[in-house]
Amino acid sequence: GHDYFNVKELLEAKMPYDILHLLKTAGEVAEELGYKVYCVGGFVRDLLLSYPNFDIDLVVEGEGEKLAISLAERLGGRVRIHKRFGTAVVIINDDFKIDVATARTEYYEFPAALPKVEKSSLREDLYRRDFTINTLAVALNPDRYGELIDYFGGRRDLEQKYIRILYNLSFIEDPTRIMRAIRFETRYGFTIEPDTLRLAQDAVERRMLGKLSYKRILQELILILSEPDPMPALIRMKEIGVWEYVLPDVDLDRADEGLWRRIPSVVAWFKERYHALYVKTWLVYLGAILALADQESREKFLACYPLDRQALKAVKEIEKAGMVWQEIAAARDIKSSWLDKLINGWEKESLIYLLLLVREEKIWEKIVEYLDRKEKIKLEINGHDLRILGLKPGPVYKKILDELYLLKLDGIVKDKDEEINMVKKWIKESWI
Ligand code: ATP
Repeated sequence: GHDYFNVKELLEAKMPYDILHLLKTAGEVAEELGYKVYCVGGFVRDLLLSYPNFDIDLVVEGEGEKLAISLAERLGGRVRIHKRFGTAVVIINDDFKIDVATARTEYYEFPAALPKVEKSSLREDLYRRDFTINTLAVALNPDRYGELIDYFGGRRDLEQKYIRILYNLSFIEDPTRIMRAIRFETRYGFTIEPDTLRLAQDAVERRMLGKLSYKRILQELILILSEPDPMPALIRMKEIGVWEYVLPDVDLDRADEGLWRRIPSVVAWFKERYHALYVKTWLVYLGAILALADQESREKFLACYPLDRQALKAVKEIEKAGMVWQEIAAARDIKSSWLDKLINGWEKESLIYLLLLVREEKIWEKIVEYLDRKEKIKLEINGHDLRILGLKPGPVYKKILDELYLLKLDGIVKDKDEEINMVKKWIKESWI
């Protein structure tokens, strides 16, 4: 039944002004259109848990698309509409996004299939969700603004710290929910409620995860590896029997705990030092996991799971990182130009993994020196300058410029004059 708890004050205490303005405006726009609008899901869950989350999902009883268009007009944003799904995204200032969906219900034609969708009420929309803690909604229309709607006991489960499904067939219909349950459990320090756990284990025993596509398993794995500390969730996956479906041959007990624990801080350090906005921490974790597998199971994984090209490249580089690191450690003199030959063009995630392997300060410093120079250094002369020096255009231009770049990386030539003098010297010595 209904529970008339009001979260208006909680919202005002926790949310920045622009979000409050947005929620209020959504309610006003809905009222004008004769619709009802609610914010739902993770945003409400995290509001009650005081866990930062500014991802707003709106559900509309009415036409979500029309509400999205009016809301974008009112807030000065853009709209992107996904007709097929009855959803829209309102984009404000190019970076803030609000998801808007028409209330809909889903049904499954067969277990583990993708659901079919139909229009419906808020209650039905919430009923198709994974866990009770994700079924909370807040009414936004002016006369009900802030009213918490709790059809399925989500607030009680938040208090008792339970991850609980809504109906017994939930995991059979969508086995990815088992991985989601584990993710929420470890993220919030909750427990999978005993009946829910039994049903999860049941679904695992009935081999339901085997019916999922590799793509969907990968999506959930990436979400788990994107959590601040994914290891407890991986161990839990093993306990429940899920890990077998992901990477059966990888023994998590063999993970290098020290390396694993340094991943967040090395990623953070790298992002800051190299102004790298988008580092995929999950890819570093995935590389670390695959490094535990033997050649054969790694190749099997890469053949089955649809990683994009960049991720595939990173995983392959990470595979080589162990050998590269040994080579570096064995070298007497570590020059930047030499490192460039080993790791030039590597993905950020692979470079981070290489740094994670390094335990000797001196080697760390050498690699960082190389990366620093790599970021700063650019040749000042180009083909035009070579022409002025009387050189005939051709493949030799690239050879000269590449060689000069390596000298500059090592600090042997420093500025434009020195670059030009070096080329002159090469001409005189008939190197070119
Ligand atoms: P996060 O904080 O990880 O983003 P979220 O709850 O916002 O958590 P999303 O993956 O963005 O998670 O999903 C949005 C909503 O859609 C969730 O609140 C959840 O209830 C619902 N949902 C997502 N995946 C499923 C699923 N497989 N089955 C049922 N409901 C799902």
